[in-house]
Amino acid sequence: MNTSQAILRDLRDDRDFAAAPLPDLHMSSVIVGGGPAGMSPLIAASQGGFLEPLLGGGLSVIERGAAIGAGEIGRYVITSDSSAATIVDCVNASSAPWLMALRDHPATRAVAAHGEGAVPLPLVGSFLDVLGGALQEVIAQAPDCAVLTRHEALRTQQLADGRWRTELRGPDGSTRGVVARVVVLATGGHQPEDHLRRQEAAGVRLVAALGDKLIPSGEAMTKAGLHDIGRRLAALGGGEVAIVGSSSSTIATALVILRLGATVRRVTVLHRRKLRVFYPSAEAALADGYDEFGPDDICPKSGFVFRFAGFRLDSRALVMAARGIAGRRPPPRLHLHHLAPGPDPVGRAILESADLVVTAPGYRPRALDVFDRHGHPIALFADGAGTRPLVDGACRVLDAHGEAIPGLLGLGLAAGFTSGPEIGGEPSFSGQTNGLWQWHNTIGAIIAARMREAVGV
Ligand SMILES: Cc1cc2nc3c(=O)[nH]c(=O)nc-3n(C[C@H](O)[C@H](O)[C@H](O)COP(=O)(O)OP(=O)(O)OC[C@H]3O[C@@H](n4cnc5c(N)ncnc54)[C@H](O)[C@@H]3O)c2cc1C
Repeated sequence: MNTSQAILRDLRDDRDFAAAPLPDLHMSSVIVGGGPAGMSPLIAASQGGFLEPLLGGGLSVIERGAAIGAGEIGRYVITSDSSAATIVDCVNASSAPWLMALRDHPATRAVAAHGEGAVPLPLVGSFLDVLGGALQEVIAQAPDCAVLTRHEALRTQQLADGRWRTELRGPDGSTRGVVARVVVLATGGHQPEDHLRRQEAAGVRLVAALGDKLIPSGEAMTKAGLHDIGRRLAALGGGEVAIVGSSSSTIATALVILRLGATVRRVTVLHRRKLRVFYPSAEAALADGYDEFGPDDICPKSGFVFRFAGFRLDSRALVMAARGIAGRRPPPRLHLHHLAPGPDPVGRAILESADLVVTAPGYRPRALDVFDRHGHPIALFADGAGTRPLVDGACRVLDAHGEAIPGLLGLGLAAGFTSGPEIGGEPSFSGQTNGLWQWHNTIGAIIAARMREAVGV
């Protein structure tokens, strides 16, 4: 047993090292964050048939939680915007034995039962936890690899030879380093306070103007947050909710709030972007009388209309009804208001008169503190103003000048990955590509290929 293997054995056993600092571990790759995105390169490598050689180079997954798997997604009480079939596709369409073995698992079946429809996200979370448990076992069996749960990555610094030393804090508070050629940041996204404070709608600074009637969507979509909305409206004897945002989760939030019942008198969605609808083909869209698209709104690879910008599943049904597309009848308590770019007196009046306002400002990447070989901080492109991405189209983390930082990769919620021609999508789409299927396949494969290069297999 070599030094790294002995250290790994002790780390897996969670032994107390507070009094005895450990020597660094040496790996080929490190993945920081064991949520859905962090697992994805390894799932993509399994689909490509090269997980085993990739693990042969030594790999560790660093996760501050107790297990790898669902990350944050299972906390949200809304339904998925991707179909059940695409979520379990990584298991059902795989020929990797460890994935195939999950086909009959109750958690897989519970998701698969929704077929081409939407799935409650807590069920997706349970499935991803099962996937994480199975992946953890595969990694644990590889000699030089480890899943280090209850370990938080604190920073990563480049060494003189170009490798990266990532510093971790273990469950007992002690710190230790992992040195690797490739570090993958899969640390997810959040809705930071300063990001929230900058939010404006209808010419109104939301935090300053609305005080405690403002609720961030990340809170509103949880079980506790939704319960609180119901409780506050009931205490008023019923009331009105305004929701600011244009994303799929905004519409999904409107749906779960409407389902709270009669205490919700009215929900108004104030949206900046036009609410687009996904169609599997231009013909299907035109047959419904939906013609607000041009050639640039059609994905050249799939022929889908608004493949990435369009609402899908439950949110699509609600938007189609609210907009009266294909002769659907608008739901009585739901209203839409398209926000004007600057001051918007009607929008302002809606915000002022609402009893509660949910704002969906989107997510910013959590990332990690990064230092150069002299110990100086490297500012990241994503740290700058606005909503700049963490990564480029090859999943490379960008510095403040927009240059790729060698050996640092990233993916996941809020990473800002925009797809190139190999992934497809409508040319008019300028947003980021986020989603489990893409991570398990195309985007995860980009990272897996770089990790494979680092191993040299
Ligand atoms: C409301 C909502 C609905 C969504 N619905 C769908 C959907 O229907 N279909 C779909 O495909 N996608 C969906 N997504 C997108 C995406 O699948 C989820 O956001 C997913 O949870 C993101 O995974 P992640 O791994 O990037 O981040 P997270 O789920 O946040 O996981 C990050 C992990 O990294 C760990 N971590 C963070 N920092 C550190 C550190 N320094 N050290 C150690 N560990 C760390 C965290 O503990 C966590 O486990 C949705 C997203 C949102 C917000």
